[in-house]
Amino acid sequence: EVGMNAQDLGKILHREPAEIVKKLFMLGVMTNQNQSLDKDAIELVAAEYGINAEEKVHEDMSDIDNLYNKRMEASKESKHQIKRPPVVTIMGHVDHGKTTLLDRLRHTHVTDHEAGGITQKIGAYQVRIDNHLITFLDTPGHAAFSNMRERGAEITDIVVLVVAADDGVMPQTIEAIDHAKSAKVPIIVAINKMDAPGANPQHVTEQLMKYNLIPEDYGGDTIFVNISAKTGENVDELLQMILLQADVMELKADPKQKAIGTVIEARLSRGRGPVADLLVQQGTLHTGDPIVVGNRFGRVRVMTNDRGRQVEKATPSMPVEITGLNDVPESADKIVVFDDEKTARSVGEQRAQQALQQSRENVTHVTLDNLFDTM
Ligand code: GDP
Ligand code: MG
Repeated sequence: EVGMNAQDLGKILHREPAEIVKKLFMLGVMTNQNQSLDKDAIELVAAEYGINAEEKVHEDMSDIDNLYNKRMEASKESKHQIKRPPVVTIMGHVDHGKTTLLDRLRHTHVTDHEAGGITQKIGAYQVRIDNHLITFLDTPGHAAFSNMRERGAEITDIVVLVVAADDGVMPQTIEAIDHAKSAKVPIIVAINKMDAPGANPQHVTEQLMKYNLIPEDYGGDTIFVNISAKTGENVDELLQMILLQADVMELKADPKQKAIGTVIEARLSRGRGPVADLLVQQGTLHTGDPIVVGNRFGRVRVMTNDRGRQVEKATPSMPVEITGLNDVPESADKIVVFDDEKTARSVGEQRAQQALQQSRENVTHVTLDNLFDTM
């Protein structure tokens, strides 16, 4: 089960996809160019061209980004898709109240009755409102957002733009608007500090309209909510608006397929070895799953949720912390579950080897440049 179709196979074998389909037909396999082929069919065709399919397929699998993208595409066509929670990043100018809002949400809406509410600091957490979940990325907004984007990891569905009602639009407010717009991520405006003496939400709204963030009252389609992260005023309303926006976006995932996800943060723990906070995006991640994470590999050993509780599986949009990797991955690395540990290991090792070679080549370049500089 490699998710390869006649088109992909054609590319690998340097043949037209139509020729592959015809070849398959002659071999008794009815398919079209887009349908996923099973291992036997792939091997049959490859053998026809005198090629060892296993080696080729392995080569193909070491391209983790490509595998990740294919699974993402496949899940969009799946019949098993169900609604998934939105993934939200809070952005805004310094001191406008991002941390206060995140902390309030974490403490008032993240309650765990059984575990007595021990909150774990992992890179993201989920909030429950009226039995719906929302995932908040709890990493410094701008950095997380732009680093992820630079590496082609787009995990945010919605940006909540926090603007202080007593301060208005500031440089980082504009920066955040630009980031969100170029990523085509919808913005919900949270005008914060409504309790502050100088609060002037009307003025802030007018300022934001210049950046094409226009509230419904003025004929636009941007959601505005006036809140106070400090007193909690209208914070529930903000959560409701996030759910509304998510409904419009029809965010879905297929929990049945093998998991893919993205690393939020990773570190080395003294007692537990490499630890990665990650977001599951499609499929369900299970304890024991063989995985490749960037240039690392392993098996999910212990999986912990945002409340520090051990879990056996993680469904789409769920953030978890995992152990069991051979080394520390990087943030924004892609996670792909494999069928067996042997393949995960060899793909991981191959990728680490390639990365090492790449870095050596870069070093050589630098030394040559330096050499010429000194001449
Ligand atoms: P960040 O830099 O965006 O993370 O901002 P912080 O959350 O650290 O908040 C900056 C300051 O604004 C802190 O002193 C907060 O207590 C204060 N603050 C945050 N939200 C509110 C609010 O809703 N009302 C008032 N009056 N102060 C707030
Ligand atoms: Mg902060």
